[in-house]
Parts: sequence; structure tokens; C-alpha cells
Amino acid sequence: MDSDNQKKILILGGGFAGISVLQQLQKIFKNNKSVKISLVNEDNFFLFTPMLPEIASGIIHPSDISIPLRTFCKNEKFYQAKVSAIDIKNKLVAITRAFDGKVKVLDYDYLVIALGSTTNYFGNKRIEKNSFTMKTIQDAIAIKSHVIHMMEIADQEDDKTVREKLMTFVVVGGGFAGVETVGELNDFVKESARHFYRNINQDDIKMVLVSANGGILPELDPDIAKKATESLQKSGIRIIPNTKAVDAGNDFVFLGNGESVPCSTIIWTAGVTIDSVVSGLDCEHKAGKIVVDSHLRIPKYENVFALGDCAAITDTKTGNIYPPTAQHALRESKIVSHNLRSAITGKVQDKEFNYESKGMMAVIGKRNGIASVFGYKTSGTIAWVIWKTYYLTMLPTFEKKCRVAMDWTVNLFFKRDITLVGKIKKKSLNEFNITTLDDVLFKDERQATKQNS
Ligand SMILES: Cc1cc2nc3c(=O)[nH]c(=O)nc-3n(C[C@H](O)[C@H](O)[C@H](O)COP(=O)(O)OP(=O)(O)OC[C@H]3O[C@@H](n4cnc5c(N)ncnc54)[C@H](O)[C@@H]3O)c2cc1C
Repeated sequence: MDSDNQKKILILGGGFAGISVLQQLQKIFKNNKSVKISLVNEDNFFLFTPMLPEIASGIIHPSDISIPLRTFCKNEKFYQAKVSAIDIKNKLVAITRAFDGKVKVLDYDYLVIALGSTTNYFGNKRIEKNSFTMKTIQDAIAIKSHVIHMMEIADQEDDKTVREKLMTFVVVGGGFAGVETVGELNDFVKESARHFYRNINQDDIKMVLVSANGGILPELDPDIAKKATESLQKSGIRIIPNTKAVDAGNDFVFLGNGESVPCSTIIWTAGVTIDSVVSGLDCEHKAGKIVVDSHLRIPKYENVFALGDCAAITDTKTGNIYPPTAQHALRESKIVSHNLRSAITGKVQDKEFNYESKGMMAVIGKRNGIASVFGYKTSGTIAWVIWKTYYLTMLPTFEKKCRVAMDWTVNLFFKRDITLVGKIKKKSLNEFNITTLDDVLFKDERQATKQNS
């Protein structure tokens, strides 16, 4: 094939949206040498985010939900690199290699932007500095290590006030990520304390969920969200609604209602934003997201598509933007790949994106979930089983499905894994470090020494 006639499709982002577009294009252009597809992602793996909280709680292993992107690529070229600039006018993308910072410029005929979102701290540097987040595999691993570390230290602490501070976990954000994280951590810490850390009393452990909304899980049907609230409260989690976290230090979080919560762990899941490489693009944006038309194209740039969390797609029925979920990203990918086929082959007509969610579900603890699927609402163990079954089928590759199924089975019969492997890195822990803890633990002795000298 003459390379001048070859159509180049460049996919930016190897998450739910990018990978699904890639897989569908592989089917559409199977054995078609006139189309060359390339994929760029900064990590060399696809991350199955719905199971991320289970990494933090020691149920599944990090590599079980991380699938090397090269396993999806057959004849396609994969670049593990950061997208550092996009020039949609000149059809060029600059990518930067992590290893040595070398920049390469890729050209394309068709561009698919699926770069997802990043954590939004709304400019609050102190919260950013003192909290964890739950977005990447590194975040989940860092949280797990930190939580185990807190339990190790609390178990050696005789002062109940200090022990309680070490054992207070505040999760900010009442959406899926926050609710699932607090549910998982609650079980993890309470079970581990019961089995391994006998100096930690169950009443030392405090789990707090702070939500800026009137309730939690605003995406869900109010009845089912209420069930989730009651269930979390029953398992000992304190939910603080209508409240924002406004400040944080290494041992407290300060809330908009004037309350200061002493704690040693803050997990921030309260907002997402769009990376500047996307929000700075020369096109229309809504909250940083790329505004696309119903064919998921950027108006004025017929050859550029955007989808997933980084795209603002209007639901024509409600006038609202479709929510940023994996479920929507997967549906959008079907339209993008179909419309790419339409643009390249001219054999099919463009399709419009129009989707009604089939339902939502969440896991909120061991053998406990909530689900609203095809109008059928349920909670407790049945919802938990529906969640597990659905997400196991969604997890790519047979091998990873087997590994996760094995982890879940083992978890039903054995105790949690509290192995603390590797040193905690200051970077992933933000500024929470051993010196800080040392200050907490030996503060009195230091003060006495100071006074004596
Ligand atoms: C903890 C958690 C739980 C969730 N649970 C659910 C759930 O149960 N159900 C559900 O439907 N949704 C859930 N979601 C939301 C879901 O993960 C997102 O909606 C979905 O991942 C969006 O897909 P995407 O492809 O747009 O973005 P992503 O999946 O985030 O993919 C974006 C990709 O782009 C890469 N990237 C970003 N910037 C660059 C750059 N500059 N250069 C190179 N690569 C880059 C990223 O590394 C990533 O691989 C959850 C999210 C989280 C964090």
C-alpha cells in the first residue's frame, strides 16, 4: 500500500473510551492495509477503575485490573508517552517520552481524543498537599500502604486520643468513587483490627464521608441512594451531607460547617477537571471539556472526535451533559468508530449519539451493594452479586477475569492481606510523612526536653 494513500487514525488515551474505539476499529478495518491506527497513552496499561477501591482495601492485586495496552494492539502502533500538545489546525500531536523527555511529533488524518479527566482540588493547595486521591493505580497502592501503616502505628499507641486520630479516615466526595472507597476501607480496617491489631478497639475507628450535596450518589435514583446512605450508616460510617472540606493539614480536615475533624488520612474524590492539553485546545469548551456535536465530532474540525470524560456531549432530551462514566464512554466509542468508518469508506451513514443509561450500581462493603438496573432496584447481597458479575464480565481478558475471580473467592474465606511491601514514598503520600507522625507521637517528650533545657 502506498503510504501516501494510507489513512492515519491517531487515538489519544488508552482508557475505557480509547481502548473501545481501538477494538471496534480493529474489527471494522480488519485486514485493511489502507488504514493505519496508532494509540498513545502515558501508562503502558489500561486501568479498570471500577475495581480500584478493592486494591486499596487489599482484596485484589494491582496487576489484576491493569492490562498491558500492547495486548490490545495487533497491527497497531503503541506509544507509551504523554500527549504534550495538540495542534488541530495542522493535524499534529506532540508526545513526550517519560524516560528521557524526548519529544516526537505525530501527524494524522483522523484524531480521537479520549484523554479522560484529572483530580480537581478547586485550587485548594493545602487539601491537595495533605490528601490522597483515588484515580490511578498508584493512588490505590499508596492508600493501601498508608492505611496499613496507620494500623501498625495505632496498634503501638496507648494514648486513645492519638490512636483515634490515627484511626480516623475522612473521604471527601459522595459520588461513586468516594462511596465505594469509604465502604471498602471501613471493612478493611475493621476486619484487620479484629484479626491482627488487637490494641486497636473497634470504637477507635472512625470513617467519615463528606458530601457537598444533600445526599450521596446524586447520579442514582433517590430511593436507592437513600438505601445506600442507611446501609453505610448502619456499618458505622458517619455521613456529613451539604458540607464541603475547605482546609486540611497533616492531621485534620476543616469543614465548611465549622467542624474540624482530627484525622491522619484524607482521601479526596470530590471533583474532576480536564488536563490543560485538552482544555487549552482551540475549540469550544464546557468546564474544560471539549464540546462535540451529536456525531461526537468537534464542530469545524470534521476529522477530530472526542469522547469519554474529556468530552461535553449534550443529552438532547434533557439538555444536560452526559455523565462521565465508563458506561457512557463505551457507548460513545461505538458511535465514534462507526462515524470513522463512515468518513473513511463512505459506505455507511453517520450515526448520532443518543443513549439512555441502563442503570447504575455500586458496591458499598462486603456482600453489600446497591443497584438500579432496567428499572429494577435492589440492595444488599443481591446487588453485590449483580455488581460482581457485571464488572467481571466487563473486565478485559480471560486471564484477568480468572485472577480477579480467584482473589474474590480467596477473600471470602481468608483474612485481608496486610503485608506492607516497600517504603512509603513521600511523593505518593503527599506531605504526610513519618516526621509528622513522629511529631504526634513524641510531642510531649519533646516539649518536656525543651522546657528542661
Ligand atoms: C475509583 C473510581 C471508580 C469508578 N467506578 C465506576 C463505575 O463503577 N462505573 C462507571 O461507569 N464508571 C466508573 N468510574 C468512572 C470511569 O472510570 C470513567 O468514567 C472512565 O474511565 C472514562 O473513560 P475515559 O476513557 O474517558 O477516561 P480514562 O479511562 O480515565 O482514560 C484516559 C486515559 O488517558 C490517559 N491520559 C490522560 N492524559 C494523558 C496525556 N496527557 N498523555 C497520555 N495519556 C494520557 C490516562 O492515562 C488514561 O489511560 C470510576 C472512576 C473512578 C476513579
